[in-house]
Amino acid sequence: MLDLTGKNALVTGIANNRSIAWGIAQQLQQAGANLGVTFLPDDKGRFEKKVRELAEPLSPSFYLPCNVQDDEQVEATFAQIGEKWGKLDILIHCLAFAGKEELSGDFSNTTREGFTRALEISSYSLIDLSSKAKELMTEGGSIVTLTYLGGVRVIPNYNVMGIAKSALEMNVRYLAAELGQKNIRVNAISAGPIKTLASSAVGGIKDMIHHLEEVAPLRRTVTQIEVGNTAAFLCSDLASGITGQVIYVDAGYEIMGM
Ligand code: NAD
Repeated sequence: MLDLTGKNALVTGIANNRSIAWGIAQQLQQAGANLGVTFLPDDKGRFEKKVRELAEPLSPSFYLPCNVQDDEQVEATFAQIGEKWGKLDILIHCLAFAGKEELSGDFSNTTREGFTRALEISSYSLIDLSSKAKELMTEGGSIVTLTYLGGVRVIPNYNVMGIAKSALEMNVRYLAAELGQKNIRVNAISAGPIKTLASSAVGGIKDMIHHLEEVAPLRRTVTQIEVGNTAAFLCSDLASGITGQVIYVDAGYEIMGM
């Protein structure tokens, strides 16, 4: 049975009710996990307000500001988890960023700054958060990140984010190889296109979804809850033999050649 009772789960990346992280948080909580939630702080506190209002029914143990580009915030997040919970079982890495100008037009126009920022936020952050999480995963654990087909195939306009996802998927393998000795499993979910704040920045997201509806074996795209169900499975003992993998939750689109 899928049971996460007594497991402490840190969920990053909730921005609003369309966020994939929101679908994951709901399914982890339904399976019995205790939640801790981080948000990206902004000057006016809008993200925090929205995330608190949304997540309140799931009764998270805490809400913490955590911009992954800010070392102090990352340190403080894990220090507080240590104080509050003592141990961590689950880390959901569900965040990414690239400038809108990098997500349409010619890939060869990618700037050094845009490349560095996209890779730092979307890929390096998994290494950073995992290295802090492993210290608290004293009874083993599960780390899950979110990737997209654009990390292994060329998808129009995905551009630099494709490079970030490619690096992210390789991070998953290197982290899995190292952390397996501590019984910490590391996997990625490659989700089909879903309309969210982040995906709206990618040129032609509506066309991508429409294309799946025509071509994917299930003739539709997927929901945040379907991704959440897979995340809950990967975090549970049912997936105890799975690590270093990229699991496609994309209505089967990945298998299609034409
Ligand atoms: P979203 O906009 O709801 O979530 C992105 C999150 O990243 C937001 O909560 C945002 O606050 C956070 N974030 C951005 N910069 C950050 C920073 N510096 N520090 C901390 N957090 C930061 O969009 P989403 O589509 O739910 O994205 C979640 C993940 O799913 C991303 O990794 C995305 O690439 C991946 N993904 C999305 C799709 C899709 O079609 N929506 C498909 C496959 C994979």
